[in-house]
Amino acid sequence: MSSRIPISTLNTGSGPRDSKPESKRLESIGPNLTSTEPFTVTQIVFSSIPVRADTHWYFVEVSDPDGVTGVAEFTHGEQSMATSRAMAEMADEIRGEPIEDEASLPAMLGLSVALLQGDRVLAAAVSGLRSAILDGQAQRAGVSLREMLAADEGQVPDSVELYANINRSMLPDDNGPVDRSPQAFAEMAGRAVEDGFHTIKCAPFDECRAPFDSRGLPPEAAAGLARIAAAREAIGPDVTLLVDCHSRFDLESALALEPELAARGVGWFEEPVSYRESRSELARITDAASMPVAGAETAYGVELFESLIADRVVDVVMPDAKYCGGPGEAVRIGRSLEKLRPGSVSMHSPSGPISLLASAHATAAFAGSRPLEHAINEVDWRATTIDPAEHVHDGRLYLPSGPGLGAGLNQSLISKSGRRWTI
Ligand SMILES: [Mg+2]
Repeated sequence: MSSRIPISTLNTGSGPRDSKPESKRLESIGPNLTSTEPFTVTQIVFSSIPVRADTHWYFVEVSDPDGVTGVAEFTHGEQSMATSRAMAEMADEIRGEPIEDEASLPAMLGLSVALLQGDRVLAAAVSGLRSAILDGQAQRAGVSLREMLAADEGQVPDSVELYANINRSMLPDDNGPVDRSPQAFAEMAGRAVEDGFHTIKCAPFDECRAPFDSRGLPPEAAAGLARIAAAREAIGPDVTLLVDCHSRFDLESALALEPELAARGVGWFEEPVSYRESRSELARITDAASMPVAGAETAYGVELFESLIADRVVDVVMPDAKYCGGPGEAVRIGRSLEKLRPGSVSMHSPSGPISLLASAHATAAFAGSRPLEHAINEVDWRATTIDPAEHVHDGRLYLPSGPGLGAGLNQSLISKSGRRWTI
């Protein structure tokens, strides 16, 4: 299957700093605009900000002829620049065309769902554009994104429970690797509980990478299990502890590991193997596990998420607004699957405040029954990345009241510490 977006031929220019033209977020809206108000992309601007060590957060802003600007985060590791170039090509194809339903964007671009499921750069680019356009549409309609996405599904909450992902706070910082001893895991998990979180997630299996030399439980897992035990000891028995395995295991080692996690009171077993490369093995692990198995953080499109639950590949799917098609698609996923199996959707959200905000609007709109992921203590200035600042208190994200996402990028922070470009 071929794409109309020839990624390999895209140029690599990254443009001048501070080239961002004037744009605005709507503070209020005229009485004539409705929630079906189309959004017409006439301008697209990218920006990024250095976060910690190799991590940067990447943003896209799309503006219409009235200067209404929708924003999305598209942070995609080493593929972030390729993602921005794909987005710029896509924006060229739809420039000036009124978009009523952002879900129709792939069809407008000639991109099949199957292609987007297999190509992560295209999926991230489509998701970023869909997400930014949705923010612009909700601003034009004068409603919050969560209200627009919930449509007539009743009262939408204005705060969302979060779980504390401590992974990113324990990655190397600007001075190099940080302490990853069991004691360090205990301290960071304890700090999250002090900050009001009731669910903590860690990724402790640094030493593991399948295939292993031995049968059964690999000896390399001992260090990770010691980190889990220390974290559990620090947070006590009433806080839920989730464990992410980043696809470091294989079928046999994952089956041997699961009872060890259960013995330490682990609340979910995330991605022991990849849903992409090892779907049938993951289904066997899910079948055998006594705790929920979670995964699919890079999947695109409601159909794939539905199949993962229908085929019992995992118990909990983890749509990421940056890859799944954006918050609009996340709501389709949440509505479909929460009805089928309550508690089967928990959005993946390990990035910055714009991505968390989009995910929180979606989670509020589909009335998600599980807490939303939040990467805590990565950098101390995180909240100021957006305006108004991110508001996390006592383990909850409080959503701003303005139209759309309710917050935009802190442009002075981007001007001072980041960069902007057009393609
Ligand atoms: Mg994960």
